[in-house]
Amino acid sequence: MKEPSGIVITHLLTGWITLNKSVVIQGGSGTLRLPVYAHHISHPKGELLFDSGLPQAFEDKNNQRRENRSFRFDGVKNIVTCLEEAHLDPNRIQKVVTSHFHFDHAGGNSLLKNATVIVQEKELEATRIPEFVEKSGYNTMDLVPEHNYQVINGEFDIFNDGSLVCLPTHGHTAGHQSLQILTGKEKMVLASDACQIKQILNDEFLQAPSFDQELQLESLKKLQKLQALGFVIVPGHEPLGN
Ligand SMILES: [Zn+2]
Repeated sequence: MKEPSGIVITHLLTGWITLNKSVVIQGGSGTLRLPVYAHHISHPKGELLFDSGLPQAFEDKNNQRRENRSFRFDGVKNIVTCLEEAHLDPNRIQKVVTSHFHFDHAGGNSLLKNATVIVQEKELEATRIPEFVEKSGYNTMDLVPEHNYQVINGEFDIFNDGSLVCLPTHGHTAGHQSLQILTGKEKMVLASDACQIKQILNDEFLQAPSFDQELQLESLKKLQKLQALGFVIVPGHEPLGN
C-alpha cells in the first residue's frame, strides 16, 4: 500500500507452519496451520524488513533440522526469493528489525548479512544465556555472529520522524518487540508473536503461556490500548489474504 508519507508496506508470505493448537491457544487441542510472514517496508530514507521468515534450509523437505521439530512446514520460500518475487531487491535492505529470535521470525537473517539487525538488548542478551535459550526455544543457528547488530533498549524511532517505531512487547521471549507504523493516513502495529492470531487480541486469556506470562499479558494489553486508539494491529500469524 502506498501512503502519502512515501512509505510502502509489502507483506511477504515465507511459508506455512502446522503446529499443535496448544502452542498458541491455552489448552487448545488439534492443530493449526498458520502463515509465516516477513514485512518489507520502503521508507524515503531506506528499505527495511520487519522479521525475515523461515530458514532457507527449511525449503528442503528432507532437512534434518526441520524434521526434528514438532512442527510441519509447507510452501517454504526463503526471504531472498520472496523479495525477488515481489520485485524487491534484497541488496537494498539496509536494516532488519528482528521481533525475536525464533526460527520463523529470524530464520532469513543469515541471507541478509549486509543489513544491520535492530534488536532489543534483552533479546540479544537472552540468546547468550543457555538457560534462556532452552526456555525461550531459540535456535542459535539463526544467530549470525558477523551481523552488525544495532542494539536498542525500549522504544526506538528508526528514522527519527515518528513513522517507524520499535515498541518493546516483551513476554513471548525476553526482549520481543513489535513495530509501530505511522504514516500520514495509516496507523498500524506489526505485532509479531506478541499477538500471534486475531482471536487472542479479543480475548487475552486465550494466549498460551510463553517465556514470561505476566509480561506477555502486559504487552497484549498495550496492543489492545493501541487498537482502541485507532491502530490496526497485525497479528504475527493471521492470514493476510495473500
Ligand atoms: Zn515466537
